[in-house]
Amino acid sequence: MKAVIVKEYGGPEVMSYEEVDMPTFGASDVLVKVEAAGINFIDTYQRSGLYPVPLPTTLGLEAAGTVEELGADVTHFSKGDRVAYTSVAGAYAEYAAVPEEKLVSLPDGVGFNAGAAAMLQGCTAHYLSQSTYPIKNGDSCLIHAAAGGVGLILTQMAKMAGAFVIATVSTEAKAELARAAGADEVILYSEQDFETEVKRITSDAGVNVVYDSVGKSTFEKSIDCLKPRGYMVLYGNASGPVAEFNPATLGTKGSLFLTRPTLFAYTADRKSLEWRSGDVFKWIDEGKLKLRVEHFFRLSEVQAAHSALEGRKTTGKVILTP
Ligand code: NDP
Repeated sequence: MKAVIVKEYGGPEVMSYEEVDMPTFGASDVLVKVEAAGINFIDTYQRSGLYPVPLPTTLGLEAAGTVEELGADVTHFSKGDRVAYTSVAGAYAEYAAVPEEKLVSLPDGVGFNAGAAAMLQGCTAHYLSQSTYPIKNGDSCLIHAAAGGVGLILTQMAKMAGAFVIATVSTEAKAELARAAGADEVILYSEQDFETEVKRITSDAGVNVVYDSVGKSTFEKSIDCLKPRGYMVLYGNASGPVAEFNPATLGTKGSLFLTRPTLFAYTADRKSLEWRSGDVFKWIDEGKLKLRVEHFFRLSEVQAAHSALEGRKTTGKVILTP
């Protein structure tokens, strides 16, 4: 089969499209024929070495596809079932071996592309808005990079929960997408000082929660956008990791909360995975949640896909098709 292999850390050029052996799968694994693999920002961290993984590796942490073969102990799936998963490495390939406990069935109303987007970015937006800081009706929140993969979904989920949403994006075209997703106010943080704007919009009150996936370039000012006892949810590093932080700052700035959550911890057990993916699929099926899936690349074009994502050229979901 064909797959994308990384043998050393570096830029997009370290990813090679190669003929490799089919994945071996154990008694409780399912062999999935990948129809759509999701590209996520975390893949770029693993490729660059910011998040080290054992090398050589096949990147890709989510996909949707069909069941091709079953391990002897698999009980809940049959050959030909439409399925999706996240948090298992190796999705940038024609086939992937996935432990049964990580796999969910794809409902009829959810296609492969949406299924791939739902698993990592959809479940992330779900845990951020339902669990890390459970948004209440009337809360205000600041969502950075709101036209990105997670950003567009999180904006819609925050609106569904009744929040007043302030979004940041880098271009006017992205601002239109954030508004269409429901953002009440959009700040072009590439041109405007977002802290000043948040204070203006909230009449100096600040927001209940900041969802910050940008990291280095936004972290400090994000903290200053919070109300007393507000929640700083730092969940990514698109601009680079936050280097140092003195916890005493949380006290002087109003008894704030700081957390650095990961999807893995919020979907570690089967119940959480089924709850989150089930909600996301249901909302897609009911038309409450609209996924923007517009960037498609072949497996062989993976270098261009990573360059586009890291170059801030994409909006919504980026999909690799074998
Ligand atoms: P996105 O589609 O959101 O792409 C990243 C966006 O970040 C860009 O489009 C860009 O939007 C913005 N950005 C700001 N500064 C930079 C920069 N210097 N370089 C590149 N991009 C920048 O990606 P994803 O939806 O895949 O992921 C979003 C974030 O969420 C990532 O940081 C990722 O690591 C994190 N994440 C965390 C998870 C967790 O559980 N902790 C799970 C899933 C994702 P703009 O041009 O508008 O600034």
